[in-house]
Amino acid sequence: MPGDCQRLAHRRRRSPSPSAGCELIAIGRLRPSAPFGVSPAAGDTAGVTDTLTSLLDEARDLYDDAVGLRRTLHRAPEIGLHLPRTQATVLDAIGGLGLDVRTGESLSSVVAVLDGARPGPTVLLRGDMDALPLHEDTDLEFASGTEDAMHACGHDTHVAMLAGAARLLARRREEIAGRVLFMFQPGEEGCHGAKHMLEEGLLEAAGEPPTGAFALHISPMFASGTINLRGGPQLASSDLLRITVRGRGGHASMPHGANDPIPVACQIVNALQTLVTRRTSVFEPVVITIAHISAGTTSNIIPETAFLEGTLRTLSGQVRSAVRGHIRRLAEGIAAAHEMTADVDMEVGYPVTMNDGPFAGFAHDVAAELLGDAGVAEMDTPIMGAEDFSYVLERVPGAMAFLGACPPGVAPEEAAPNHSNRAIFDEPAMVNGVATYAAVALRHLAGDSVDATRR
Ligand SMILES: [Zn+2]
Ligand SMILES: [Zn+2]
Repeated sequence: MPGDCQRLAHRRRRSPSPSAGCELIAIGRLRPSAPFGVSPAAGDTAGVTDTLTSLLDEARDLYDDAVGLRRTLHRAPEIGLHLPRTQATVLDAIGGLGLDVRTGESLSSVVAVLDGARPGPTVLLRGDMDALPLHEDTDLEFASGTEDAMHACGHDTHVAMLAGAARLLARRREEIAGRVLFMFQPGEEGCHGAKHMLEEGLLEAAGEPPTGAFALHISPMFASGTINLRGGPQLASSDLLRITVRGRGGHASMPHGANDPIPVACQIVNALQTLVTRRTSVFEPVVITIAHISAGTTSNIIPETAFLEGTLRTLSGQVRSAVRGHIRRLAEGIAAAHEMTADVDMEVGYPVTMNDGPFAGFAHDVAAELLGDAGVAEMDTPIMGAEDFSYVLERVPGAMAFLGACPPGVAPEEAAPNHSNRAIFDEPAMVNGVATYAAVALRHLAGDSVDATRR
């Protein structure tokens, strides 16, 4: 059933490597001026591991370029579906790689296809491109130069990492049997950019639809350079909830002559929390937060309406649908009990980001080979944020993983989180991100994720 938590099957292909563990710690401590001082997975001799080791080496060699691209984007953030400067920067960054490049019509997306030397399946790699509407309050020398826009979710790093991976993979064209579909996406922050790209034929861009899809999301909540994921739900569904309670206005000294919507709105707020505990299973997480209340103008007037606004988060489509019905009945019923009405408006947001269990296990294994076992963690729980990569994962088996980027000297739980005006992402983590994107794509095209589904 959708929403059931699946555990990743731990399939270690080699025992934990102390050198790999050291590498992880070292990457987390390194600064942009010296990110490459540690040898990865010393002692590995297998050909496959050599390939992964060389990916890490090459990712290190690309680090300065990745930082340069990331900082260019960070200085000039753009918001929403139309990001013309960002799009031009992406086109410039992947120019000359021999990719088949197309741009979006209803949004400034970039879709690029790398055709391998031999036929085979297609794998999709995604990086989102948009910033957020807030003022940046970091002291970074490359801080946003745009008032009230900031790359506070780290999408600038996603673009830089995906462009770096495109370069690594383009060098291996002769080894590739199949295609890599690069998805550079605007409008992740609430604008359903991925859905627009799907409607514009994203999955048909490489001829055959992809058989696997992978995305990284950077986060200061995890140790720098680590890959963090799980099978099943990785992120929640997100719906916007608006309720307007309609009573009858009047004088505040004579409430019996009016019909005051404010206490009724308050009853609805409390009843929504009771709904969470009484109408949904304790094993099915649900969050309802009313984050905005507004009613009235002054102390001696009973207003005609009271307005509530908030968010609904769930981890399964079934629960999401059921709770939406409960909310409507509850709000309308409480209002009716007081001879009022409640207009309930629920704006459909992103679906649950559902990682495919076998693909997540495969990506976990690839990252463990690349970074060492200590460089990968299976998340105990999903995160109740939301992502529109969920639309891609509804159509293609795949996974999203978090790339840790906690700044040095800061505990992950104390780091300014994504969306903070003070968010800082540890740039050396991008080395592991570039290599992980490339490694997952190469391994998928080599059939390893298909093998994973058969185990
Ligand atoms: Zn975000
Ligand atoms: Zn984001």
